[in-house]
Amino acid sequence: MSAEKKIPYKIYLQEEEMPTSWYNMRADMKNKPAPLLNPGTLQPLKFEELQPIFCDDLIAQELNDTDAYIEIPEAIREYYKTYRPSPVVRAYNLEKKLQTPAKIYYKFEGNNTSGSHKLNSAIAQAYYAKKQGLKGVTTETGAGQWGTALSMACAYFDLDCKVYMVKVSYEQKPFRREVMRTYGASVTPSPSDTTTVGKKILAEHPGTTGSLGCAISEAVEVATSNEGYRYVLGSVLNQVLLHQSVIGLETKTALDKYGIQPDIIIGCAGGGSNLGGLIAPFMGEKLRGEKDYRIIAVEPASCPSFTRGKFAYDFCDTGMICPLAKMYTLGSGFIPAPNHAGGLRFHGMSSILSQLYHDGLMEAVAVEQTAVFQAAEQFARTEGILPAPESSHAIRVAIDEALKCKETGEEKNIVFGLTGTGYFDLVAYQQYNDHVMTDYIPTDEDLQAGFAGIPRFPGNE
Ligand SMILES: *Cc1c(COP(=O)(O)O)cnc(C)c1O
Repeated sequence: MSAEKKIPYKIYLQEEEMPTSWYNMRADMKNKPAPLLNPGTLQPLKFEELQPIFCDDLIAQELNDTDAYIEIPEAIREYYKTYRPSPVVRAYNLEKKLQTPAKIYYKFEGNNTSGSHKLNSAIAQAYYAKKQGLKGVTTETGAGQWGTALSMACAYFDLDCKVYMVKVSYEQKPFRREVMRTYGASVTPSPSDTTTVGKKILAEHPGTTGSLGCAISEAVEVATSNEGYRYVLGSVLNQVLLHQSVIGLETKTALDKYGIQPDIIIGCAGGGSNLGGLIAPFMGEKLRGEKDYRIIAVEPASCPSFTRGKFAYDFCDTGMICPLAKMYTLGSGFIPAPNHAGGLRFHGMSSILSQLYHDGLMEAVAVEQTAVFQAAEQFARTEGILPAPESSHAIRVAIDEALKCKETGEEKNIVFGLTGTGYFDLVAYQQYNDHVMTDYIPTDEDLQAGFAGIPRFPGNE
């Protein structure tokens, strides 16, 4: 009986056990995520309208609400094998430290140079751009993981890569920048004076340290005004969640080998891609009524899109040039307080996860950053891995749930996504270690300013 096997520290799969198709949750959702709208006509965007922005195959994936399985092209599977399958790790040492009867597992996605799960989608997006015969792609990056992943993917497929990096990260993380440049990407701090929208933002907000929304506007402008370029995005979009389903599919195969049924599945949520990927096959079972799981999204209290945002159509970017997406949003003008240290700073959330949350199929909690770094420290000291601050949001809630089990004596199986490593986040760790890290929870008035920027039209009040 498989359940009687001693569960190893690391459950590794063989290459042959890696998924050959991505799983598309939308196929099993009764309430589909709302379509992207053209901001001018307020009509659902058609394939042709998206062509100036995105690669053709990726648009098809973006709009595909019906196919449950989409084959992973051979070339992508071959690249995946260079750093996957990634292990599911039993956190025996953390469990012991917490003295909890809960069993804690994490899926570790930090075992590649980009240091995060983002490579899973970067390599897919670069592949489709190459297949279409494009010269290159443009993108934004916040903390830098996505830009790094994309520069690796573009180097592999010999594509030009232009990255707009949020200015505050550009200055705080010069080493990230050098990794990207080593892989051949050009990196511009955003907002910049290289684009019309960047100049406009700089004129309106002199001295701004930038936001993901600004950087997206700049990258989209450059893609649409340069022949042979398209824009790519590292989170939020349906296609990105699709590619990230490789995380959940591997997790499920690994757990099934030992007969492990998760009770709680936890992931940090910035734009929702790692969480959407981790939960995909489990949510599929839940949607089809086969199994039930508690699924928890964890977000920063300083950027609380799920827990305090509005479920409405909104722009994905500050310049308001991108399509409108229906999602939990803080408003495209929202910028987290300057003391906010690590990632997860996007104002919106994946439309898929937003719909699932709206339908009560998953929960969300917001946590404060000092508590997140306490969890990161405890995890690093027991499990050895220095976690990314983003991932540490999930660690916080995994620990909290394990401590609840200690009180009730329940032996729950807790699975969380460890999305990456924190080697480039040492300025944040320094603040924590020097006890100068602070928490800031935005007031209702703070949030009101962002909400005021959500477009108003019938049905979107
Ligand atoms: C980008 C990133 C996240 C958040 O993005 P999602 O799209 O919400 O997954 C989380 N962890 C790490 C390490 C990241 O790089």
